[in-house]
Amino acid sequence: MRSYSKSIEAFKEAVDLLPGGVNSPVRAFKSVKMDPIFMERGKGSKIYDVDGNEYIDYVLSWGPLILGHAHETVVEALKKVVEGGTSFGAPTEIENKLAKLVIERVPSIEMVRMVNSGTEATMSALRLARGYTGRDKILKFEGNYHGHGDSLLIKAGSGVATLGLPDSPGVPESIAKNTITVPYNDMESVEYAFQEFGDDIAAVIVEPVSGNMGVVPPVNSFLQKLRDITEKNGTLLIFDEVMTGFRVGYHSAQGHFDVTPDLTCLGKVIGGGLPVGAYGGKREIMENIAPAGPIYQAGTLSGNPLAMTAGFETLNALTETTYVELNKKVDRLVEGLGAAATEHNIPHTINRAGSMVGIFFTNEDVVNFESAKSADLDIFAQYYRSMAEEGIFLPPSQFEGLFLSTAHTDEDIEKTIEAARKTFANITK
Ligand code: PLP
Repeated sequence: MRSYSKSIEAFKEAVDLLPGGVNSPVRAFKSVKMDPIFMERGKGSKIYDVDGNEYIDYVLSWGPLILGHAHETVVEALKKVVEGGTSFGAPTEIENKLAKLVIERVPSIEMVRMVNSGTEATMSALRLARGYTGRDKILKFEGNYHGHGDSLLIKAGSGVATLGLPDSPGVPESIAKNTITVPYNDMESVEYAFQEFGDDIAAVIVEPVSGNMGVVPPVNSFLQKLRDITEKNGTLLIFDEVMTGFRVGYHSAQGHFDVTPDLTCLGKVIGGGLPVGAYGGKREIMENIAPAGPIYQAGTLSGNPLAMTAGFETLNALTETTYVELNKKVDRLVEGLGAAATEHNIPHTINRAGSMVGIFFTNEDVVNFESAKSADLDIFAQYYRSMAEEGIFLPPSQFEGLFLSTAHTDEDIEKTIEAARKTFANITK
């Protein structure tokens, strides 16, 4: 048995200092009924906890580390920048360099604004959509997560297309009522919402592959149909590519599915492990942002040179071939995990998009939040704890996907499959 004694001690101290002992709720490991594991360092595909345990890491800081931990090029570039000062509150050339790469690679982006997190990107994109269209309502999908901004922290009521209810105390009902929520992958509900509220809907915001209810890809040309209905109604289409951006493919999810939104939100990979978000889109829309236009949005540390450098070096290291190679590793992992689950009669459905993978412990097809919720959470908790014991670090929730990096080796994948075989052999159903 691995020892977690230092993690346990650190957590005891943390609960006195930080609400719930963590700075972001999903780190608390509540859904797998464990105390969090405190990490100390990472290198390549491996991460090491404060007790010295080694893991193959499939969390990768929740997606950003597509090159793995402490990638040499990124680290060397950061060392150089840090010695010259960490922030100036004035423009720097590295902001142009990263912006150029983003504009080159993401089909919808002609101009981009850098911010500090995915949440900031989605909040700002919504303000822009509202300011640009002069409309108040937005439409989002059940089970999609877009950060913790008031307008987006909304759950659905019952019914096909519902005006939102606050998902957290502190979100005013007056804000929630402007958010319409419908099931993911369900065009009938979207059409109904447009019949009811069409003239008032400023934007439809969607994760082009949902990664926050496990991994749920779009089906039946869902994204193209959203493009068509938004165009017809003078509504902006926003792709929240905070998770999928530069992960699902070289040209992000919009390139992969060949559907171009009006605005795109980015985060995670664009910062290469430092705090960066961005939103961008058509020049005609983006030129409404201050100081070019009247819609206000700003940030003391936006475009920070360290963060821009980590993002630039990360994107610069990725080529079209990188994704082909990475996808081959994902193919092997998905095939191996599926075979191991089948061998031991574990109900499962594996969804995958590029190097995002979701294993659900259910035999149902998972196409929306309702079907995702059919997964057996007790099996997931057993699976999680046993995999951690075998040295495999996974996202501690059934409703999160796992990620691979270019640093994961064939040996890592085989070890992971072997750990899953052992784990599935011992699951009590
Ligand atoms: N949008 C999506 C699709 C996300 O997955 C996340 C975070 O996981 C966010 C927005 C919020 O990003 P951040 O946590 O950087 O604020």
